[in-house]
Amino acid sequence: MKYLTGYPEPLLAQVRELMAQHRLGSMLAEKYGQGHEVRNDRQLYDYVQDLKDRHLRKSVPLGKVIYDSKLQVMKHALGTHTSISRIQGDKLKASREIRIATVFRDAPADFLRMIVVHELAHLKEAEHNKAFYQLCTHMEPDYHRLEFDLRVYLTHLESAPGQAGNRP
Ligand SMILES: [Zn+2]
Repeated sequence: MKYLTGYPEPLLAQVRELMAQHRLGSMLAEKYGQGHEVRNDRQLYDYVQDLKDRHLRKSVPLGKVIYDSKLQVMKHALGTHTSISRIQGDKLKASREIRIATVFRDAPADFLRMIVVHELAHLKEAEHNKAFYQLCTHMEPDYHRLEFDLRVYLTHLESAPGQAGNRP
């Protein structure tokens, strides 16, 4: 379960058990049944701008905002849960451009919001450090739970392609 590396064992055991019982998809669908209507780059731009206006009005203006089909969520966005700053710290620079992996176009609304919050926080903090996560939880108080559940969702998508169970 590469998406969940670094999380406490009891949590991972729960996920493994749900997977073994083929209940992970229905659990996710129950919790995150609501999809969203952010279908294209134009709509994505407006969506990101709206969240930015609400929480980060004073930071740099947005540049390009797009769905990117080449982007891998783990490699480019979230990093692994442990040693994140070591992996990405010096490579990552705060940029005005926001790229969202295409997998979020069909993902539940909560996960799109979570990843947009993540990318907006990078406008101010390049690294995944304490200040970065404080920004995330300022914009989305449930940020940490959503990031964990997003990782569970990605794990599920990979283990059960074609039966995502994520659209209402
Ligand atoms: Zn990041």
